[in-house]
Amino acid sequence: MSPMAFSGNPLDRASYNRSDAAWLAAQGARGLFLPFWQNRPFVAGTRAGFLAWRSEWEGALCVFLGLDGDQALFAVDLPGETEPQLGEGNFQEMRPAAFVLKKRDTAIAGQAKALLDWHKRHGFCPNCGSATLLQDGGYRRICPQCGAEHFPRTDPVVIMLPIFGDACLVGRNQRFPPQLYSAFAGFVEPGESMEEAVRRELSEEVNLETGAVTYHATQPWPFPSSLMLGCYAEAKSRDFKIDGKEIEDARWLSKDEVRARLAGGIADEMKLPVTIAIAHFLIQDWAKR
Ligand SMILES: [Zn+2]
Repeated sequence: MSPMAFSGNPLDRASYNRSDAAWLAAQGARGLFLPFWQNRPFVAGTRAGFLAWRSEWEGALCVFLGLDGDQALFAVDLPGETEPQLGEGNFQEMRPAAFVLKKRDTAIAGQAKALLDWHKRHGFCPNCGSATLLQDGGYRRICPQCGAEHFPRTDPVVIMLPIFGDACLVGRNQRFPPQLYSAFAGFVEPGESMEEAVRRELSEEVNLETGAVTYHATQPWPFPSSLMLGCYAEAKSRDFKIDGKEIEDARWLSKDEVRARLAGGIADEMKLPVTIAIAHFLIQDWAKR
């Protein structure tokens, strides 16, 4: 199984059953519900590492996540500006929670966050402006006015590590936390293949010419609704030039240096990506080869 955070979701999404309103209502009557507030899942304790499910729910928005064995699981969005008090547990930001939660719970929480967030931002039909209605447990919205159907979106993002010989290029996006250097990334645009998006982004961000692009792995990334497409890109030379807008610095690192940094053997101003990010695995897996 992939070691990637937010992957490995164990739920049966019951695609064929969830469009049956009677089936869904029966599941709801004996369902377990995961509360969310301001995109934060309800987590048991601070260090317990699991999601806190409840047998009742209150809230305007409820989506079906899937079946865990025979148990139907749902997620509920709780409105309001003040944090609801639900007893044992608290609402935790998704990113820090991903370090603490069990892997399967991180994947389920990520699915729930991406889905709830989409509904909250897509209440009106982009075709005619009318209010839309939730269908299929949350995997579709329909417009009663013009009949248009709308599906939860997943946005493909390429994330790539340029390689030249025994070195990889890492960069500092100006939006990154201090000291972080990572792989390069960008949204795939309409009419573009994954490989083309990789080469375009590297050309734009660091003026680096690349050839062959190889696929590494993917990661669901619910901030808000991305699918990260991890790739390696063969650089044609070591020559690059940062764009000075998005990227404020970039450096070639040798394989030995990357290994030493991942092992914590170099203490300086540079940090590599944390273990919940696919960039960590892109860099680590290349360094291990
Ligand atoms: Zn419409």
